[in-house]
Amino acid sequence: MNPLLSVQDLSVRFVRRGELEVVAVDGVSFDVRQGEVVGLVGESGCGKSVTSLAIMGLLPGRTPRVSGSVLLDGDPPVDLLTLSDAGLRQRRGRDIGMVFQDPLSSLNPVVPVGVQITEALTRHRGMDRKAARDEALTLLERVGIPDPVRRLRSYPHQMSGGMRQRALIAIALACRPRLLIADEPTTALDVTIQAQILELLRELVAETGTALIMITHDLGVVAGLCDRVNVLYAGRVVERAERHALFAGPRHPYTAGLIRSIP
Ligand code: ADP
Ligand code: MG
Repeated sequence: MNPLLSVQDLSVRFVRRGELEVVAVDGVSFDVRQGEVVGLVGESGCGKSVTSLAIMGLLPGRTPRVSGSVLLDGDPPVDLLTLSDAGLRQRRGRDIGMVFQDPLSSLNPVVPVGVQITEALTRHRGMDRKAARDEALTLLERVGIPDPVRRLRSYPHQMSGGMRQRALIAIALACRPRLLIADEPTTALDVTIQAQILELLRELVAETGTALIMITHDLGVVAGLCDRVNVLYAGRVVERAERHALFAGPRHPYTAGLIRSIP
């Protein structure tokens, strides 16, 4: 079976005033199979976010020079790097959803959370307003937001960080994407809330069969969640392994150092 997503030799260079500024991603390749959780791990600045933004077609402006391919399985398969803007917009949400570190950056501050969820349902799943409202309530309950009827009318700033992250996961799930990309979704949260959000993601993957790319600088997160792991260093994959193999016997000194640094 073809992988759901195949990233092949992806490179992203940022150029300023005609001069190369930084090679953010340097020949990265990895696969994601249906329903599996794949970790992208490495320290700050190693190219995790740029990789995920390239997959989503969300890299800023004209400056990045992108090469390689990002094949999304389908009939026919598509290369997300060569898709038109209209084509990409269609894929976002329906095929690939994304959850960012700071939920405020992706929630609309002037639209109640419930409306944002129902909009996702009417747009991506073709539901009428009544069905969308019922499904929005079910989703809010599912992601563990108490008092969902009231929360339907809440604005993002009226919710805590953990609640906002749950709401964002509800929106991502409203679209039933085949692949969810979570970029440091728990980094900005308290430790207990972090554990709850990770548990929620774990349950959702098991229930829905959505594949997940889990981006984190924290190997502890990987230990609890990922089936396979790619370790990034300075824009390159320096090690890839099944989770158990990674912790049992890391092959790259950088990975070994990361494992030793887990408290
Ligand atoms: P992280 O692994 O922490 O998510 P990033 O993917 O955000 O790292 O960044 C990788 C590298 O690309 C860093 O050196 C960063 O400074 C650089 N970078 C990211 N975005 C831009 C941009 N828009 N313009 C120039 N350089 C960028
Ligand atoms: Mg990042």
